[in-house]
Amino acid sequence: MINIKQRVAALIGDNIRSLKAYHVQDASNLIKLDAMENPYTLPSNLREQLAKQLANVAINRYPDPECRKLKDSIRELWQIPSELQILLGNGSDELIQLICLALGQSNVQVIAPEPTFVMYKIISQFCGLAYQAIPLKADFSLDEEALLDAVRAEPKSVVFLAYPNNPTGTLFNESAISEVIKLNQGLVVIDEAYYSFAQKTLIDQVQAFDNVLLMRTFSKMGMAGLRLGILLGKAAWLDELNKIRLPYNINSLTQIAAEVLLQNWSPIEEQMLSIIEQRAWLMDQMNQIEGVSVIPSHANFVLFQVADAAGCFQGLKQQGILIKALAGDLASYLRVTVGTEEENAKFIHALQQLM
Ligand SMILES: *Cc1c(COP(=O)(O)O)cnc(C)c1O
Repeated sequence: MINIKQRVAALIGDNIRSLKAYHVQDASNLIKLDAMENPYTLPSNLREQLAKQLANVAINRYPDPECRKLKDSIRELWQIPSELQILLGNGSDELIQLICLALGQSNVQVIAPEPTFVMYKIISQFCGLAYQAIPLKADFSLDEEALLDAVRAEPKSVVFLAYPNNPTGTLFNESAISEVIKLNQGLVVIDEAYYSFAQKTLIDQVQAFDNVLLMRTFSKMGMAGLRLGILLGKAAWLDELNKIRLPYNINSLTQIAAEVLLQNWSPIEEQMLSIIEQRAWLMDQMNQIEGVSVIPSHANFVLFQVADAAGCFQGLKQQGILIKALAGDLASYLRVTVGTEEENAKFIHALQQLM
């Protein structure tokens, strides 16, 4: 008799059984500064408008499988050049999965600098792709030589580069990225999840080269709950990826809600600018606290180092503030998401007391 564990092991590979399910911290009754969410809510008139529009959505019908209207609005928002196509995902996580699934048959290797966004590794692993991490330098800049060596050794590779990077908040050197693009015969995927806060883009590279794709997301701009990720690239790539996208991956409520917000974009724009201002205030305050070492950030979070990271994390939690503790090489680091003015002041006050 074989038991159920053996049955499962016979069918489900090691690459999946060795994974841990993605863990989300319980944030009940805490000030939530752990997940790079936009802390602001929408103005009440816009929420009412949203409610009205959502009430009229025909949820008995399938959504528009191609999201035509939404894509047009996104194209207009970011002035996306006409030679680039748009593919939408249920969050950019789904887009990373689409890319890895599509490459699964061709024995490519995924390469990413580390520390970086953990989903590149997790998704590569469950899609059965080899994954190689190239450690960042001590100052969290790109180790250009090591990355180029890795690409040279494995010319058909997919390189994921978060620009700015999570969890460091740093912007990698543009000319180093260009060198990787020129050398790589596979693909380079630039992940601009924090585009609104960095206000820098490498979209020119997507136009200039045939091996570059670019991702953005609505999550960090205040719509994490909608799940909407955007992939930009040339048609030859996106046409193939579109074949393995499940037909109705963007539900009709998300399509309409995103559309309404895109038609009423100024409150979102103002919120992004407030977060940028608050980030500067937060970094400045943190820099003045002895024992806190701040990594300058281009995103909506700040990575910092303290002598006792675990103690600091727990101390903040006891004062009702949830941030993110990091593991491995970053075990002495913590990551705090920029919150509202009031939340940030509470965080600074608590941190001052703890240090
Ligand atoms: C948050 C984040 C994402 C995930 O975004 P979703 O659209 O919510 O799936 C992608 N890339 C990076 C670098 C991130 O930090």
